[in-house]
Amino acid sequence: MKEESTLEQELHQICELCGREGVQTTRHHLTPKAKGGTHLPTARLCRSCHKQIHALYTNQDLITLGLTSVPALQADPEIARYLKWIRKQPATSVPRVRKSERVRS
Ligand SMILES: [Zn+2]
Ligand SMILES: [Zn+2]
Repeated sequence: MKEESTLEQELHQICELCGREGVQTTRHHLTPKAKGGTHLPTARLCRSCHKQIHALYTNQDLITLGLTSVPALQADPEIARYLKWIRKQPATSVPRVRKSERVRS
């Protein structure tokens, strides 16, 4: 099941993880919903950061490693290495993700 069903479409948002402005953010459940985090805090992350977190860690990893807060994520060596790189990238460099489903009219 997909974790993010809704996308925030507001302009000029700031990613809580990398701090870049003008990015489109998505909601990340700091404690995965599958692990009981439905009503726990979320963070607004740019697509790039969000993708990176879930590419590096499974929901179980996030719990086991205690990566359930933004500061904890930022302190993680793998993510810190990624952040160092992404912060040098302009917000416009985030590749557009094409919808895989055709919109039926
Ligand atoms: Zn980000
Ligand atoms: Zn997420």
